[in-house]
Amino acid sequence: MIQTVGVVGAGVMGSDVALDLACYGYEVVLKDISEDAVRRAKEKIRTDFRLLKMVKPRAKQLALEDVLDRITFTTSYDDFGRVEFVIENITEDWERKKAVYTELSEVCGIDTYYAVNTSCISITKVGALMPRPDKVIGMHFMNPVPMKELVEVIRGEHTSDETVACGEQFLRSFDKVPVVVNDFPGFVTNRVLMLTINECVWAVQDGVAEPQDVDKIFRLGFGHKMGPLATCDLIGLDTILNSLLVLYDSYKDPKFRPCPLLVKMVDAGYLGKKSGKGFFDYDK
Ligand code: NAD
Repeated sequence: MIQTVGVVGAGVMGSDVALDLACYGYEVVLKDISEDAVRRAKEKIRTDFRLLKMVKPRAKQLALEDVLDRITFTTSYDDFGRVEFVIENITEDWERKKAVYTELSEVCGIDTYYAVNTSCISITKVGALMPRPDKVIGMHFMNPVPMKELVEVIRGEHTSDETVACGEQFLRSFDKVPVVVNDFPGFVTNRVLMLTINECVWAVQDGVAEPQDVDKIFRLGFGHKMGPLATCDLIGLDTILNSLLVLYDSYKDPKFRPCPLLVKMVDAGYLGKKSGKGFFDYDK
């Protein structure tokens, strides 16, 4: 049974993964590269826990200090020898991810499982870096992690049935709903979502409709809770652009060509919610 989880990368996703796990009683070692990143993660966890308490009955019974006590915040790998499962959430950059897996293979036990949290990076390619590629699996968590049940689980070329079964059981233990898919660029979620968002940006660029009307059509017409352009703002226009470029490069298919308006907005610094402006305006 898994008791201690190593979470690498304490940004938007990693800090929420750590919070979610700690709420379910797991011991978590949360690692980032600088003291500053670790301090920001602690702040984010405090804020997100307060919000979680307002909406999740389970969290209402928990005390912030007990949750924080279960998380070791660190910039070193000192405690990784004792973790049974690693969830890696570092920046979506192949060279960086590659370096981290080389480091992890040197500090973790040979039986450790590795979950790659990624938008588009190949799980098979990560597995090929490791001494036990059968222990590597993809776990594409949804943002914000404690609020979203779905986890898209990706079976790499070398991922064993045992690792898939263990990963599914682990996810269910903290009330996630795993959906297992095969490893292909963008999996299901991002292959379809990125294309949808990009096409909506083309519709705005072509003057077919204003952003608020594009989103209204999806909300009222198709029952989506959030329109594609508000989703784009939430994820970040830079992340959407990078994902489209990875998909374009992987499939060599022009349908993934990023809309010039998206490129222009990223160049202008309109990155969505995190920058205060994207297709919609936000208080910074
Ligand atoms: P982020 O930029 O918020 O956080 C990344 C963190 O990784 C930063 O704190 C950075 O300092 C840290 N980091 C970089 N190199 C590191 C290293 N060598 N060791 C330890 N930490 C390191 O990014 P994010 O939005 O949290 O995304 C993380 C991963 O999750 C990406 O692969 C992304 O594609 C994926 N993802 C993101 C979302 C989303 O909505 N943001 C959704 C699903 C999946």
